[in-house]
Amino acid sequence: MIRKERLVKLLGEGRVFTNEPMSKHITFKVGGPADYYLLPKNVETLVAVINYLKEEDYPYYIIGKGSDLLVLDEGYPGAIISTYGGFDTIRIEGMTVYAEAGALMSKVAASARDASIAGFEFASGIPGTIGGGAIMNAGAYGGELKDLMGKATVLTKDGRIVTYTRDQFFLGYRCSSFFDKEEIVLSVELTGHPGDPKEIGDRMKELNGRRKEKQPLEYPSAGSTFKRPEGYFAGKLIQDAGLSGYRVGGAQVSEKHNGFVINTGDATAADILTVIEDVKRIVYEKFQVKLEPEVKILRVDRNR
Ligand SMILES: Cc1cc2nc3c(=O)[nH]c(=O)nc-3n(C[C@H](O)[C@H](O)[C@H](O)COP(=O)(O)OP(=O)(O)OC[C@H]3O[C@@H](n4cnc5c(N)ncnc54)[C@H](O)[C@@H]3O)c2cc1C
Repeated sequence: MIRKERLVKLLGEGRVFTNEPMSKHITFKVGGPADYYLLPKNVETLVAVINYLKEEDYPYYIIGKGSDLLVLDEGYPGAIISTYGGFDTIRIEGMTVYAEAGALMSKVAASARDASIAGFEFASGIPGTIGGGAIMNAGAYGGELKDLMGKATVLTKDGRIVTYTRDQFFLGYRCSSFFDKEEIVLSVELTGHPGDPKEIGDRMKELNGRRKEKQPLEYPSAGSTFKRPEGYFAGKLIQDAGLSGYRVGGAQVSEKHNGFVINTGDATAADILTVIEDVKRIVYEKFQVKLEPEVKILRVDRNR
């Protein structure tokens, strides 16, 4: 049996929440409560809390900023551990940026710019943490974390802290060996190349302007809902299937960017999931192309 006092002792005051609505913590702004919502402030307390949860055979799930995640309306009967707002140190040596998992990608990119390091511009408008980014190999406008990441320190499934060099991990299109092996990313090292801060900043502004123009940033979402199927664009397939604006309850295929499912205000997770499933089915019926969600769906699994 899990004891709240023990969690508070491990993590400190103000870092343990019970029955916490996940709609407050994921960018879709939907989702029921997690039995526990935990905010470790450093690697040591993260490891200690995971060891305790494992001892008690209690389910847990690690998140960053929740910007690529759907939590269901029934919530999560376990502990959700967030790195965001916890360990987020960013340090720079030469052309290498060292960042702890909870650091926001926008902050990592801004730190690189301020240190005259180019190559991080694509990441400045991606809303998640660098840990979540590593899991997804986040990318945009022709850049991806794969281009920068030289090392990653992870907590393995069997509880070891291991630092991998580039030849020891895999990053592909919105996928990684970290995710496949259920490893928790603790920190990463990213190397760019020399650049002029003004030029880097201008490029960031330009890319973020393009985002604002093309993406429905005024609505809660998790960015592009589907991965790009080989040889196609998800948004174009969805448009050609006549699904622009397709709506279930408060969830809708954005008319501004057909690749985004948005929460128009009062969506439930079930509405969003139904739109995702309907879009997949209809696109498959029309074009025999299988769309795969990019967004992770936190299914309730007590045995994890
Ligand atoms: C408006 C908008 C625009 C976006 N644009 C882009 C874009 O251009 N390119 C892009 O790639 N993505 C984009 N995204 C999606 C998202 O921001 C990225 O995928 C980001 O990398 C997710 O990071 P996160 O911290 O929010 O992860 P979360 O959503 O919290 O988690 C995502 C997955 O990673 C896992 N995870 C998170 N942190 C860790 C960790 N430290 N160790 C192990 N597992 C972890 C979670 O368990 C989950 O499976 C966008 C999202 C939004 C809302």
